[in-house]
Amino acid sequence: MGDLRVGRHTLNPLVILGATGSIGSQTIEVASRIGAPVVAVAANRASDELHAIALAHPDAMICVAEPGEGRDRFESDFGDRVHFGPGAVTQAAAIPNTTVVNGVVGAAGLRSTLSALYAGNRLALANKESLVAGGSLVREALDAGGGELVPVDSEHSAIWQCLVGEEHSSIERLILTASGGPFLGMDRDGLRSASVSQALDHPTWAMGPRITTDSATLMNKAFEVIEAHYLFDIAYDDIDVVIHPQSIVHSFVEFIDGVVKAEFGFPDMRKPIQYAITEPDRVAANHGGFDIAGTTMSFEDPDTETFPCLGLGYEAGRIGGTATAVLNAADEVAVDAFLGERIRFLDIPEIVATVLERHDASLPRDIEDVAAADAEARAYAVEECALRS
Ligand code: MG
Repeated sequence: MGDLRVGRHTLNPLVILGATGSIGSQTIEVASRIGAPVVAVAANRASDELHAIALAHPDAMICVAEPGEGRDRFESDFGDRVHFGPGAVTQAAAIPNTTVVNGVVGAAGLRSTLSALYAGNRLALANKESLVAGGSLVREALDAGGGELVPVDSEHSAIWQCLVGEEHSSIERLILTASGGPFLGMDRDGLRSASVSQALDHPTWAMGPRITTDSATLMNKAFEVIEAHYLFDIAYDDIDVVIHPQSIVHSFVEFIDGVVKAEFGFPDMRKPIQYAITEPDRVAANHGGFDIAGTTMSFEDPDTETFPCLGLGYEAGRIGGTATAVLNAADEVAVDAFLGERIRFLDIPEIVATVLERHDASLPRDIEDVAAADAEARAYAVEECALRS
């Protein structure tokens, strides 16, 4: 495949992991708009959505982690270009000289993250669980493989863009913005009866069910603090969170001379996805700016008593090692139980706190250590969910 040039630089072919999800489908849209070739797509299931993507990309390798009953149809329709099993996904991430967009949901994304970085690829990371579960391993893989780790998450993309041309030593602190989610302004009493449909009704961003629930508890912001720590090598004491319900400012960086930079715009994930693919160039796209005149923006401190997950994130981050993997695993189980209406909204932080307390954290040597901490946390979280349902 020939090199495609945009601006001054060569645009790598794309490997899109989690292709049928929210990030994956928007990545496919961006890729076709800017003319980026797609060499591989991966998804968990042999779904109709993945089938349609495979038809639309006749040269792409297709990977299905858990094909189930759909295997036969994919095999007969796509022959040699379809590959099955989790190993196929991690192999796709290692295709040389590609940009790997990791939009996998959950801790399963870590293997592909490590695979892409050890292969020296540019990794456009939307799977924040990679850094939450295995941040130290991701940094090791980055150093060993000589690849690039770039954010897709809107807040981190904003920080990344604010840091263009700046020295690390010039950073005073990072300020992540949080929409506050659908329950902003409510107290614990009001949250006792919070339903799944209320939690999934996010005011500004359209995302998958787990991340939307995590936004309602502020756990998503807790993960993003940890993500920022590993991406930008900034101490937890120098990462702050501010509630900004309009989601217009995607984050701030304050510098040592008191200057503050921010990145603004109408919320649209296609912008950070595209920048992660084209950086250092910008490519024209009709993603909309925003009308400055008439725009009202407000900022306030988070209510950490009503939303304890944010504090739990700092706590796990400061403990370090496997503690953040445990934070993620316990939350994944608790959110799943909440979405299945087996526990209540306010049970989520209690379950996570209890599981975190039971865990004896250590620095993971490899992905198996992370997997062991993850499995232990899941088992504890399942027990805690059962006690409450
Ligand atoms: Mg975000």
